[in-house]
Amino acid sequence: MAEGVHTAPGFTGAPAVTYRLYIRVPRRVSIEPGRLGRYVLDSGWYVYTGSARRNMAARLRHHLAVNDTRRWHIDWLLGAGLGQVMHIRLDTESECAINARIDGRVVIPRFGATDCRHRCGSHLLWLGTRRPPVVPRDPRRRRTRSAVYPAERCADAA
Ligand SMILES: [Zn+2]
Repeated sequence: MAEGVHTAPGFTGAPAVTYRLYIRVPRRVSIEPGRLGRYVLDSGWYVYTGSARRNMAARLRHHLAVNDTRRWHIDWLLGAGLGQVMHIRLDTESECAINARIDGRVVIPRFGATDCRHRCGSHLLWLGTRRPPVVPRDPRRRRTRSAVYPAERCADAA
């Protein structure tokens, strides 16, 4: 596993294949991801659940950077610099299993889920305007140390 990418809590030896990006969108934005049509996203917190069975570190680096790639729907939000990843969680379960347990609102149907066979509705969910408890209180300061960190270390540092 690449340096800087940590495993999920309860790590059993299975590689992490699913990632959750906790994203802050500071102001209302209008995006037109892929062929899904144009949508307005309210400001607030979102969680995006994706999977990378290979090259997890490269995928996360991609999502953390502003770039011109528009391959995944989330690129229209993150690559375009309209939202910022404030926290990352890794898991060994499938992205749909993880996504199904998140209590969030679908704002763009089929976002990140065009090949989803589990009726997720969307792999991008709106969590509201308040920082989700899973995100450390002062993520911007901690991001300077490492963009990816395990939850237990966050708890220790609090
Ligand atoms: Zn799904």
